[in-house]
Amino acid sequence: MAVIARLKREHIDEMIKHAREEAPIECCGILAKRDGAIVRVYRAKNAEASPYRFSIDAREQLRIQRDMDDEGTEWAGFYHSHTGTPAVPSPTDIRQMSTFFGPPYVHFLVGIADPDNPELRVWYIENGDKTEHEYELVD
Ligand SMILES: [Zn+2]
Repeated sequence: MAVIARLKREHIDEMIKHAREEAPIECCGILAKRDGAIVRVYRAKNAEASPYRFSIDAREQLRIQRDMDDEGTEWAGFYHSHTGTPAVPSPTDIRQMSTFFGPPYVHFLVGIADPDNPELRVWYIENGDKTEHEYELVD
């Protein structure tokens, strides 16, 4: 395991908050970085409105991309929640993401199956497989 993402406590809190607000539907969003650290959490709408899978509308991705261009940030990766299963990419996640969003894109999973103990884990998804890595908190 290697450190593949650096972020602030507030970013983690924001992803968990989003997951709780959308449950039992999966929440999803996009993460922006600057100088190697995540600087912003963009909430996105789950176009599937499903408790089992997610997708982000292409127009919404474009809107977020434009905002990143304005702010001089780069695409860091994605996050989404699992509301009834662990924070591990599902076969559907892997099928959907591994072709276009392999490394360096990171995938954060927020697990809130146990609402009192939310878990946040980060993964690379590539070549039809998943690899867990680590994130580091920064000030
Ligand atoms: Zn998933």
